[in-house]
Amino acid sequence: MTVGVAVLGSTGSIGRSTLQVLARQRERFRVVALTGHSNKELLASQAAEWGPSYVGLVNGGTAGEGGWGKGNSCLVEAATRADVSIVVNGIVGAAGLEATLAALKAGKRVALANKETLVMAGALVTRAAQEGGGEIVPVDSEHSAVLQCLTGRRPTELARLILTASGGPFRTWSPERAAAATVAEALQHPTWKMGRKITVDSATLVNKALEVIEAHFLFGVAIDQVEVVIHPQSVVHAFCEFVDGSVLAQVGFPTMELPILYALTHPERVADAGARRFDPVEIGSLTFEPVPPNVFPAYALGRAAGKAGGTAPAAFNAANEVAVELFLGSGLTFGRIAEVIERVLAAHPGGAADSLEAVLAADAAARRLAREAACA
Ligand code: NAD
Ligand code: MG
Repeated sequence: MTVGVAVLGSTGSIGRSTLQVLARQRERFRVVALTGHSNKELLASQAAEWGPSYVGLVNGGTAGEGGWGKGNSCLVEAATRADVSIVVNGIVGAAGLEATLAALKAGKRVALANKETLVMAGALVTRAAQEGGGEIVPVDSEHSAVLQCLTGRRPTELARLILTASGGPFRTWSPERAAAATVAEALQHPTWKMGRKITVDSATLVNKALEVIEAHFLFGVAIDQVEVVIHPQSVVHAFCEFVDGSVLAQVGFPTMELPILYALTHPERVADAGARRFDPVEIGSLTFEPVPPNVFPAYALGRAAGKAGGTAPAAFNAANEVAVELFLGSGLTFGRIAEVIERVLAAHPGGAADSLEAVLAADAAARRLAREAACA
């Protein structure tokens, strides 16, 4: 019997990598549900290749796609179907939250790439997993690395995590030059090929702040126990330091296919004939540097929001989503992304993130404030 997989966001970068991985594991897995946002043509060709029992298109489904689910509700429908055991959530941003919660409540494994929703509602997501018997397994490469190092260990043995960051395209730029960077410059990631939003998040280092908060919720460590080091080669994905001072790391060429496969098979490993074999000689030298203090102001804001807790991470995430959208589409300068986030967090009243209503209200208020701040 094969394991049924739903791929949410199958037309995106993570979604397409997931289908590539699954194409080499057809004896273990079958694709039973696919969802896309608006790329109808690609979704149709994926559906033709995989023959899933459910296809959903959030935006723009019309006649011609007979039988396809439509609108936002198709995400929850795809995630909770009886023939689905694993949900790969490759949606970008807050739009992925409901499907994660519903899948966990329905007892599914969620292979989670959609880090934004763990950041905005970590406590609710954790609770949904406990209540429904579902399980969150990270797809993010740094968190997959941590999970691979921690599997088989007791949580009390862990002392500290060190996540690596490539530093993005502006690592060696002056703060002034980075502040004036163009969209094309921000989308030139040195080591990873990803969707536009996360690529901008990698240039601001917001992605790493989101990942620190993500690690806090996934592994039950305090924000101060999660450190970040710049590692331009993106070969070491994370270090785990244990209480005896020993450090384990997971290494590999930068590819999302390995963490995606591991999220499907954890705690087991399966052979993957398509994986590129590791060669240290090909890599040559590995280097590590501290995060420079002035180039990435949004990173510090994100860490502070993580430490504040409650609805502050939801406000941080929402402000960033709006600022990145305005940078990509409406001429907000790169330097003002951090400024918009700072203004939103300064005005954010705080509060407990103990209900979906509270989280969504904080998210909505932060989006309004961010739009105002961007115009000011
Ligand atoms: P992407 O933009 O390439 O794809 C995102 C997909 O989400 C879209 O193709 C679409 O199918 C879907 N989508 C977008 N808006 C939606 C909406 N409003 N409702 C429903 N579906 C919607 O992005 P990506 O690079 O694949 O990233 C997806 C997630 O994975 C993000 O949270 C990102 O941070 C995370 N992630 C990505 C990578 C990577 O290598 N790409 C690595 C680690 C984590
Ligand atoms: Mg990552």
